[in-house]
Amino acid sequence: MARTKKVVSKTKKTVKKVAKKRTTKKRAKKHPVSMPKVLIYDIETAPILGYVWRLWDQNLGLNMIAQDWHVMSWSAKWLDAPADKIMYMDQRKMKNIEDDKKILKEIWKLLDEADVVITQNGKRFDQKKLNARFILQGFQPPSTYKHIDTKQIASKIFGFTSNKLEYMTDKLCTKYKKLRHGKFPGFDLWQQCIKGNEEAWDEMEEYNRYDVLSLEELYKKMIPWDNSINFNVYHDEEKHVCKCGSEQFSKNGFYYTSAGKFQKYKCKSCGHETRDKINLFSKAKRKSLRMETPKT
Ligand SMILES: [Zn+2]
Repeated sequence: MARTKKVVSKTKKTVKKVAKKRTTKKRAKKHPVSMPKVLIYDIETAPILGYVWRLWDQNLGLNMIAQDWHVMSWSAKWLDAPADKIMYMDQRKMKNIEDDKKILKEIWKLLDEADVVITQNGKRFDQKKLNARFILQGFQPPSTYKHIDTKQIASKIFGFTSNKLEYMTDKLCTKYKKLRHGKFPGFDLWQQCIKGNEEAWDEMEEYNRYDVLSLEELYKKMIPWDNSINFNVYHDEEKHVCKCGSEQFSKNGFYYTSAGKFQKYKCKSCGHETRDKINLFSKAKRKSLRMETPKT
């Protein structure tokens, strides 16, 4: 638990520092040449408050909404940045908790700067929720970025018992596992935050930050299994660097298409497989190849 406290104590300083250093789409020199700017993030939203007549099987009309949802907090981190550089903002000190413009502005800047984002279920939830708040609060769309969603990788590649962050980080991560709620279980945490309970906000912050740290660790475990984005197009050097950072590869057989044969490589560090683009077949061999005809 000592690690957690240290991480939390550096929150606000880090947010300010990182916000200052931000430059639009410029890659900081400390980033390895091989890497695009990769942002890992997670948001928490407030529930919709409404008027209900009963508990079971309810259809609520829009006029039964007492208070609409908004972003409560977010945490974000550049991939491979030290853990104490994690960023976090929340609505606890805001005069009007529903007005999330100030914290949206900072996550908007980060997304605008990012080439790639990594989330857990963010394609269905976080990205859409943020976009909704962006347009409602008068923001333009952030600059285009690619999106890696660990939940989507999990459902496409693996047959885990659960694709939830809690399950996957518990089984796969050693340093940061998703935190279970402490003093405020389940909905209590959200309710107490909305009521302005500082202790609940501290727990929300810890929970939000840990989600990002554990998500980063989970993503790194999944790197050799993910072939969604080629990070090497984001640098101009004529060398291949694995997403894990390694530049050591061994030849690993061949990849075949219906018209070609290509050299395969395996990263010596993480085992991720790639292949050349050059067809190893001679012109004559390529000419001799016949194609399958489409079946109707
Ligand atoms: Zn690798």
